[in-house]
Amino acid sequence: MELNKLWAEKMSWLIPEVEEHDIWDHGFKIRIVDKSSGFREFSKEVKKVILAVCRRENHFIKDKLGDLNFILVGSTGIRRVLSRKARGWVRAGKKNIYLNLNQLITDNKKEQDKEIYKTVVHEIFHLNDDYQSKVLLKKQALGKRVRKPSIISKNRKARNVREAIQFFFHGLRIEGLAEAIAYYSTNISSREGRIEALHLKAKSEASKINDLLLSYFSNETPRAMKKKLIKVLKEELRDYKYSIGEYMCVRITSTEKNENTSTLIKTKPLKFIRKYEAAEIKSGNKPVVSLNSKRGILDYNNILVKLSLLNK
Ligand SMILES: [Zn+2]
Repeated sequence: MELNKLWAEKMSWLIPEVEEHDIWDHGFKIRIVDKSSGFREFSKEVKKVILAVCRRENHFIKDKLGDLNFILVGSTGIRRVLSRKARGWVRAGKKNIYLNLNQLITDNKKEQDKEIYKTVVHEIFHLNDDYQSKVLLKKQALGKRVRKPSIISKNRKARNVREAIQFFFHGLRIEGLAEAIAYYSTNISSREGRIEALHLKAKSEASKINDLLLSYFSNETPRAMKKKLIKVLKEELRDYKYSIGEYMCVRITSTEKNENTSTLIKTKPLKFIRKYEAAEIKSGNKPVVSLNSKRGILDYNNILVKLSLLNK
């Protein structure tokens, strides 16, 4: 008996529990596939939050998305090592949202529910993002070196610095907008003053990346040190696009009357950087990032030029 139970527990991700819910008023079905094991109570909690999001956030679920699949995973069933650190991700081409219970569980129940809610909104938003699913999925969007699935999976390890830089600058609009939407889905009352805090954070993070890049480009930095530095640089590029991108969204929408989340979702990633630059200059500040004007703390074109010189 005990052994059977143990076996069942071990194998539960192979024979996942599936529930289907009809959200009648919106006319679509959501399927929750539970592949996590050892999260019994917590997975119930996560399912509750998923249903709450789907009922409440119908303004961007309705019409556009249709049926959705949520796949709850725990420590087993995650093939890619790097995904183990992520709270959620989406699979390209499918209406699949993966939620990593291992990364969502905390001691603070209230915070935990908020995090789950935000993660679900963030991932649903990705599925709704045409540029992410269509334009960015085209190889030519980033050049042939970047393969198809890598763009959508933010956690995939960039192979080299150049690729990490490309992911960063393209990810600003994709992750930033998803973050902004997710934040406002749970914090409607605390918008005031947020832009200043986001600005400070974005400036400090961009400067950190810039410092690392300067050491990376410098001939005086020893080889062994460069190796370590690249590791940190890639991590920062991967993590900071969320907060810097979110700040850029907030700056644009608060400065430009005609810009909002619906216009930004139609904005291509590089155009988004231009829009941001203009909004920041209008606000009287030095941009945190720029496309090719060299005005930003991080300038995309300038970094690419320096990288190409380095490879010669
Ligand atoms: Zn994301």
